[in-house]
Amino acid sequence: ELQQAARQPAQLVPRPPVVTIMGHVDHGKTTLLDVIRQTRVAAQEYGGITQHIGAYQVETQGRLITFLDTPGHEAFTAMRARGAQVTDIAVLVVAADDGVMPQTIEAINHARAAEVPIIVAINKIDKPTANPDRVKQQLSEHGLVPEEWGGETVMVPVSALRKEGIDELLEMILLVADLRELRAPVDRPASGIVVEAQLDRGRGPVATVLIKEGVLKVGDPVIVGAVPGRVRALMDDKGQQRQEAGPSTPIVVLGLQDVPQPGDLLMVTPDEETARRIAEERAQRQRAEQLRPTARMTLESLSRMAAEGEARDLHIVLKADVQGSLEALQQALEQLSGDQVRVNVIHAAVGAISEADVNLAASSGAVIIGFNVRPDANARRAAEREQIDVRTYRIIYEVVDDVKAAMQGLLKPRIEERVLGRAEVRRTFKVPGVGVVAGCYVVEGRANRNASVRVLRDNVVVHEGKIASLKRFKEDVREVASGYECGIGIDRFNDVKEGDVLEFYELAEVSPAAQVTAGNRGGA
Ligand code: GDP
Repeated sequence: ELQQAARQPAQLVPRPPVVTIMGHVDHGKTTLLDVIRQTRVAAQEYGGITQHIGAYQVETQGRLITFLDTPGHEAFTAMRARGAQVTDIAVLVVAADDGVMPQTIEAINHARAAEVPIIVAINKIDKPTANPDRVKQQLSEHGLVPEEWGGETVMVPVSALRKEGIDELLEMILLVADLRELRAPVDRPASGIVVEAQLDRGRGPVATVLIKEGVLKVGDPVIVGAVPGRVRALMDDKGQQRQEAGPSTPIVVLGLQDVPQPGDLLMVTPDEETARRIAEERAQRQRAEQLRPTARMTLESLSRMAAEGEARDLHIVLKADVQGSLEALQQALEQLSGDQVRVNVIHAAVGAISEADVNLAASSGAVIIGFNVRPDANARRAAEREQIDVRTYRIIYEVVDDVKAAMQGLLKPRIEERVLGRAEVRRTFKVPGVGVVAGCYVVEGRANRNASVRVLRDNVVVHEGKIASLKRFKEDVREVASGYECGIGIDRFNDVKEGDVLEFYELAEVSPAAQVTAGNRGGA
């Protein structure tokens, strides 16, 4: 229904430009936004008190300009990440004393990616150390050549502090806007984009919406993202109640059933029933998307992709017990890099695999390789939750072999170990003729007589082998459950110490299908 309505022949009318102010921190974005608002709004006839609603309009030469008043490109990119394009012109603020800085360049790149024209405000020209020519020179190096040097970029010297150059800046904004011939249809159901939204104690959910098309009216049934509602009241940036709002107008909308997200699209629906139905469909789709597991990088998935001729870089978080092994491994792994697949060790450190390592791997799509170290309890839980491929090894060439095989699409089905349980060593006894027996308390899972055992000291593996004896009191038993004490003798290992952790595990081949559905179980 919504699309049908949108297809009606459009009657286009001119609309005000929507401007975002970007630039490096401390170069004066906030000051400039405040000055424009104060000087211009005071000159108007409304007499209302200005409200911070996320955007405002000013009048200059009898024409309106809309400013988004969340400075910085974070807001700009956050909106764009959600598919919302609201900005027509970007004003890039560069402090004349400081010049082009990292965030200046970022802002240029973001505006370019969005194909939004840039006007430069060279700010702080009141400062004795101001050097506008140097700023122009630096900007030219980044492709922004000032008009007076034969380029196409409008650059206006201003002092936000002394309120100088503001009229010229606004004039230039209108000039650039005119070149873009900004128009919007009005004879169709209104749509807009949420700029800001919150829950107000007295008024319920409130959202500032920038109208894109059509005219939003009090009483209109709407859908905003996945939130339905009916417009109960409209309020402008001067705190005045309005009956309607047209294109490029920022307006506070009351009457939504929930708080939408910035970047959400508002659309007027034929009736409230339609709004509710669309809301339900969208909520359902959102839930489905949340449930779908994200594809994590594992050595298996890398191998599958490589086998299908798809090249992917491999990021690795590398942890080892000592510096020497760490360096040797890092070098050996990075040497595996080829033209197709690059191996990139993004973090290498000595010590147990921690939750921070898992988070790093999750945010950067890396696998974790532990050499003679194990994940601690928090890391194990995090790896399970985040489905991170955590692989632990005790032999260097096995690490290199596995990574190489994965890069060539030849990784063998994994012999995966299943941890059956863990026990803490509380005391040790020397038993003549037997050796040292560890008095243990099973803290997790179970101890099993036939399982393999691994001795951990501060999460570093000090021994791996077989169990020689498992006893409850004086009796030999097959299994001891968590919460119980037991005595454990370890085959050919008498160096067990109080405070050690015994990990019981068994080995089994993991079928490829199980790997796909169950994801990676962290090699533990
Ligand atoms: P933002 O981080 O880009 O929003 O920068 P602000 O607007 O917070 O300004 C940073 C600092 O620069 C503040 O101390 C302002 O008072 C100062 N400032 C802003 N504009 C000017 C100006 O035109 N001249 C001078 N001298 N200082 C300014």
